[in-house]
Amino acid sequence: MGTGRLIGNDLWELINVPEDQREGVKWVATVVEIRDNATGEVRSYVDQQRIKDGESEPNCFTWKKGHESCDCFRYLYFARAAGEKEGYVWDYFCGNSAFSVRIRNKRSWRVFYDEFEAKRGRRHGQRRAHNH
Ligand SMILES: [Zn+2]
Repeated sequence: MGTGRLIGNDLWELINVPEDQREGVKWVATVVEIRDNATGEVRSYVDQQRIKDGESEPNCFTWKKGHESCDCFRYLYFARAAGEKEGYVWDYFCGNSAFSVRIRNKRSWRVFYDEFEAKRGRRHGQRRAHNH
């Protein structure tokens, strides 16, 4: 694990990502906690996200507005977090209320993205158009 790298006010575990050696980008270890809002079950998995130079933590745009905001993707992550492969159906409904996400700095355990307390916009199972 090492001692971590100070970025902003927080220590982060750096990850070497061979396919992304761009200047100005660091990859860091994060832990995604994903909650099935119907049952309250929380599963977690280790992930990696980018921090750009000049920024102090990963940009969570894809979790807020991108593909990772959608329940159909989150269902996949939730299933994978428990090692489930059977039962995965890509046609899981799209929406933004079935799962909530909280993301931590794996090194410091600080939460830098949190939907667990927030109300999400749509009712369970309501569909929306998307372009995944
Ligand atoms: Zn979707």
